[in-house]
Amino acid sequence: MDKKLSRRTVLLRGLQLPMLGGAVAALAACESDSGDSLVCADPASMSSAQESVRRTLKYTEISSDPAKTCAACEFFHVAKDGTDGCGTCEMFSGEPVNPQGHCDSWSVDS
Ligand code: SF4
Repeated sequence: MDKKLSRRTVLLRGLQLPMLGGAVAALAACESDSGDSLVCADPASMSSAQESVRRTLKYTEISSDPAKTCAACEFFHVAKDGTDGCGTCEMFSGEPVNPQGHCDSWSVDS
């Protein structure tokens, strides 16, 4: 096997590394827009009453059931700016919730 690399091979590999880095960065950006890494509720900045309601209703930022997310719940309101960002929840007095979140009060209009 020939161990020598041609100038062309070295240049091509030199171009491939930055392209790979760009692809990884693009994938990371897509993931952050999907809601998976979105954090809407910071217990440290809540009153004890707000934190207690969330804890009692077992609010979680990511639902374990993809069919039962906050975005599909009747108490959810989309973000005011129309993005996929944090919405608000009537059960939590209009406080922010993650569209991918869930709590024990999840419900749909029937
Ligand atoms: S009631 Fe629960 S599941 Fe429904 S939007 Fe509010 S936090 Fe999400």
